[in-house]
Amino acid sequence: MIVVRDIKLSRDFSLSEFACRDERRSVYVDAELVERLQVLRDYFKRPVVITSGYRSKEYNRRVGGADGSQHLEGRAADIKVIGVGMEEIARAAVKAGFRGIGIYGSFVHVDVRKNLVNGAGRPYDIWRVR
Ligand SMILES: [Zn+2]
Repeated sequence: MIVVRDIKLSRDFSLSEFACRDERRSVYVDAELVERLQVLRDYFKRPVVITSGYRSKEYNRRVGGADGSQHLEGRAADIKVIGVGMEEIARAAVKAGFRGIGIYGSFVHVDVRKNLVNGAGRPYDIWRVR
């Protein structure tokens, strides 16, 4: 049996919350991602539930993630906040400084991407999947 102690990354987030949802539970997480998630946590004053954080290449492929997914770099999290709608989470994510925001049916993807893809001069990319 291998026991690894969990590590607190900020007041409300721990390393284990970002671990890959596969058997290996490997993890990589960008400090800026944690910082901005904490801003969201403080804004809503409710737990921000991470449904997917870091993903290994194999796991990302298995769940049908995009090839260049920010999850592979530890720069993305899929989140929900109990009792808060997806559009409201997305609006708060823009204010919190996330640069990639994807609105899905039951979660919001947020990331701290280095390169924007919108050519509109917006400081963030945003998309909706219905
Ligand atoms: Zn995602």
